Amino acid sequence: MYDYTIIGAGIIGTMIARELSKFHKKILILDKENDVANHQTTANSAIIHSGHDPKEGTLKARLCVLGNALYDELEQELHIPLLKTGALVISTDPDEDEMIDILFERALKNGVKNPKILMRDEVLALEPKLNPNLIRALSLPSTKVTYPWEVALSCLEHAHQNGVEFQKNALVTGIKFMGDMYHIEINFKDLILSKSVINASGVFSDQVANLIESDVPYQIYPRKGEYFVLDRRVKGLFNHVIYPIPGPAGKGVLIVPQVHGNILVGPTSIIQMEKDLASTTKHGLEKIKVESRKLSHDIPFDMTIRSFAGIRATSSFEDFYIQESKVYPQFYHVAGIDSPGLTAAPAIAKYLIDEVIKIKEPQKENWIPYPKKPEAFFHLDRMEQLDLIKAYPKHGKIICKCEKITEQEIIHAIHRGFGCDTIKGIKKRARAGAGLCQGGYCEPEVLKIIAKETKQDLKDINYYAKNTPILVKETKVKS
Ligand SMILES: Cc1cc2nc3c(=O)[nH]c(=O)nc-3n(C[C@H](O)[C@H](O)[C@H](O)COP(=O)(O)OP(=O)(O)OC[C@H]3O[C@@H](n4cnc5c(N)ncnc54)[C@H](O)[C@@H]3O)c2cc1C
Repeated sequence: MYDYTIIGAGIIGTMIARELSKFHKKILILDKENDVANHQTTANSAIIHSGHDPKEGTLKARLCVLGNALYDELEQELHIPLLKTGALVISTDPDEDEMIDILFERALKNGVKNPKILMRDEVLALEPKLNPNLIRALSLPSTKVTYPWEVALSCLEHAHQNGVEFQKNALVTGIKFMGDMYHIEINFKDLILSKSVINASGVFSDQVANLIESDVPYQIYPRKGEYFVLDRRVKGLFNHVIYPIPGPAGKGVLIVPQVHGNILVGPTSIIQMEKDLASTTKHGLEKIKVESRKLSHDIPFDMTIRSFAGIRATSSFEDFYIQESKVYPQFYHVAGIDSPGLTAAPAIAKYLIDEVIKIKEPQKENWIPYPKKPEAFFHLDRMEQLDLIKAYPKHGKIICKCEKITEQEIIHAIHRGFGCDTIKGIKKRARAGAGLCQGGYCEPEVLKIIAKETKQDLKDINYYAKNTPILVKETKVKS
């Protein structure tokens, strides 16, 4: 029997798992997908917001500001990438310029560190490619950018080192309260027993809650956001996160430098019925091009290497809903975690444990720190590379030519932690296929390495989720 079962291994579930692993508890984290954090946590703007945007007095405002500060600790503890860009919210229209003062006041009330109003020339000196017609900007130096998926994986690996169990391909299909424990049904057949349940299932959290509660206190409205990804040759074109003045649909279309040198332009904000239809649309991408012209006329869309979309878990409650069920004891909702959920995630985990569950017992004395990850081969100097090739000859073969990823790095990614056997899983762990050609050259090689290392048939290797094979049938059959 588990003390806590967490449903969902996105950034929220994995942060909670890591925080709970500090206590003497038996913990399980479940995800329906074949890898960690395949939903919202993998498809977002990657911004660690300062906290200037959420309404004063909300949980979103409080936990965003706290989470922003906690990322500096996580950088040390989990060795995650954190780009300290700062941000500029710019006004380009006299009618909206007073919003700069309103957002400045809100930032101060929310406890954001060192917000400052800058005049046009000061802004253009910092970011010369911005729209020359801009009027003023709110500068937010505490804004940063991370690699969200890597943060979630690191949290989960760290939690696992400290005793947390993880089960992937585990769709929760039923939950029953038996008086002193929960029966959690997985994939319509297996049963797990747990004293407490934490529902961190993102956009599906109302459906999961509905497995036990008939009157769920929130409803999730999926809200899609589409993006362009520009090649990392654009590195340095913009060095801050650039926001427009926010509107009724949210923070608007942004320019976001990424930790690996790429720039994201997006997202859109469109309510849809489907919870897992994250495809881009001609209309959405056109809208980004039009709206981003407010920020700059010099965005090189001809350097686009791909587009993608993510789906926000926007809730009818209009704030994060982090509460124990009113009906079922020790069933915890962590729902409605849309933006700034990535930023707030470390603070959400602490808030749940300290103020909702209220664990009083002392923490473990022997909580194991997370070990440092190996440096990317490409970033080593020549002598270090030669030494590594001597020890591991497969470092001598570059598979991904764009990102300069070696065969040994791909093998390491396949066997790291919980293991990985999908093309996209390798892309996220080792960056093979993340460059200019987007896997056009290396994908067949990566496919063969996965098949060999995991002893599977080539035809059984998936691109991403279950049932997404790369090889479907032969195109040329020898007579
Ligand atoms: C377009 C977009 C842009 C954003 N930009 C930012 C940003 O820049 N900064 C920021 O702070 N926030 C941002 N966010 C918000 C942030 O990404 C989310 O708040 C955060 O990722 C939520 O994490 P989560 O773990 O709750 O959800 P998810 O990452 O969606 O994880 C939920 C998990 O639950 C699993 N699950 C669902 N149902 C079941 C079931 N029945 N059984 C088992 N497992 C199940 C899913 O497979 C999934 O892995 C953005 C979001 C989007 C979509």
